[in-house]
Amino acid sequence: MTVTWEESGWEQVAAGVGRCRLPGWDCTAGLVVGAGAVLLVDAGSSLGEGARLRAQAQALTGRRVTHLALTHPHFDHVLGAAAFAGAEVFGAVGMDTALAGRGREELRADAVRHGLDARAADEAVDALVRPRHAVRGEWTLDLGLGRGGGRQVLLANVGPGHTAHDLAVLVPGDPEVVFCGDLVEESGEPQAGPDAVPSHWPAALDRLLELGGEDARYVPGHGAVVDAAFVRAQRDALAARFGVSR
Ligand SMILES: [Zn+2]
Repeated sequence: MTVTWEESGWEQVAAGVGRCRLPGWDCTAGLVVGAGAVLLVDAGSSLGEGARLRAQAQALTGRRVTHLALTHPHFDHVLGAAAFAGAEVFGAVGMDTALAGRGREELRADAVRHGLDARAADEAVDALVRPRHAVRGEWTLDLGLGRGGGRQVLLANVGPGHTAHDLAVLVPGDPEVVFCGDLVEESGEPQAGPDAVPSHWPAALDRLLELGGEDARYVPGHGAVVDAAFVRAQRDALAARFGVSR
């Protein structure tokens, strides 16, 4: 039995494409439904949240999540990943090492510093799933052929910027949808932590704009869906903030 996006508390962004704003840190999770596969974009901030996302995705599509794309190695986007056993996990090249060794410790510390319960953080970091597929450049993901035609999604390594491992997800259609990760934020000033690469961030937004074009809907890592003009303005503001010239 399937439910509608609205009944699940999700926002439909285009046909077969939705997003939800998770409680706590207002982090976005995205869902792209193909005829043969279901792609989730980011996994939430804990195993419990990942499990809730899994249940919602199942209720929405009647199927399991088969593919998981992680936009960058921050706790609120990746700590639920272990709830998706069997899914093929994708991340920007180098993400697997960012989630190992000292990276795991930093991820845990950052989660607790942001208010995640320490036990939930331990549990999630112990079970942490690292991407099996490293995206260098672009990767076309085929979500299967159905009555409405095929659905191919483009995973694009557009960073560095917000982190050293920023992955965007482009979903062709009318409108096109671009999941931006935290390269774009609408609900507040873009967060630049110690792992940000500010000098390259504006160029990453240029690549996002090239991918999506003028008419795409851009889904930020935090906040409401925006348009190309918003992304361009944020690009210019970041360039000014970090003293990056064109
Ligand atoms: Zn982030």
